[in-house]
Amino acid sequence: MELIRSIEKMAARSRKALEQKKIIGFVPTMGSLHEGHLSLVRRAKKECDLVVVSVFVNPSQFGPQEDFAAYPRNLKQDRRLLQTVKADILFYPEAAAVYPKNYRTCVQIEGLLTKKLCGFFRPEHFKGVTTIVAKLFNIVLPQRAYFGQKDAQQCVVLKKMAADLNFPVEVITLPTVREKDGLALSSRNKYLSLEERRQAPELYQALLVARKMIERGERNISKVEKAMKTRLSTIKNLKIQYASVVDGETLDSGKIISGNILIAIAVILGKTRLIDNLILKVKK
Ligand code: AMP
Repeated sequence: MELIRSIEKMAARSRKALEQKKIIGFVPTMGSLHEGHLSLVRRAKKECDLVVVSVFVNPSQFGPQEDFAAYPRNLKQDRRLLQTVKADILFYPEAAAVYPKNYRTCVQIEGLLTKKLCGFFRPEHFKGVTTIVAKLFNIVLPQRAYFGQKDAQQCVVLKKMAADLNFPVEVITLPTVREKDGLALSSRNKYLSLEERRQAPELYQALLVARKMIERGERNISKVEKAMKTRLSTIKNLKIQYASVVDGETLDSGKIISGNILIAIAVILGKTRLIDNLILKVKK
């Protein structure tokens, strides 16, 4: 596996690969890698000639009170894990090179898409995400980029950005990888105490409650959302940010469930923010 720190070297390496008619697959990450990330790399390896994985804890997507400083960083282990799945290039740029002192440009989607769900609680988050991913697309020059369904709103936002800005990149979403007890893998799970870790799979259980209600014919969104909140309300030290049923493409909330829908939850458990979701196709 090649290790590349310099933005110029990465861009040159990608240009050379494109000249050789290679398909570049790209997996952007913030490191502290787990099976969720590795599942994206494995799929990219199957579909592309050159797989680039970036590890960059992007300061601009963290709010002032959030966990940027505490976010787990373990490049040595990331490197080892990426070797096991045969990633071709690990790109880990320095923050000072990505955002030099005079850096002033950002990419932001207008309108409500980035203001809903997570965007409501993390107002600057998606601006940081679209900005860094646009920059990384310009450096890595992938034809295909792989993202996890776990961050459902991020996938919708990035598909919109790629389409609106004519990036010649296919944005691909892959399923959420879970622990045996249903907890979605996340680098932030490391923050959980033993007791919190024991309770955390309840997020997935609440999603399953909602899915079952819909599968059994419930079409009233408020009733489904209420059932999820009731399930979560028994957990100690848990604050619900949202437990919502929305349109899977627009993320709009309505009254009646139909079409491609997203059932999504965000909570603060102790001090850790956890998100999870399920997608579902509902016959009209
Ligand atoms: P992060 O390092 O948290 O920014 O995540 C990097 C990529 O891995 C994003 O596309 C995430 O959606 C994806 N990812 C994170 N956790 C999981 C998971 N449990 N299953 C699948 N993909 C994931």
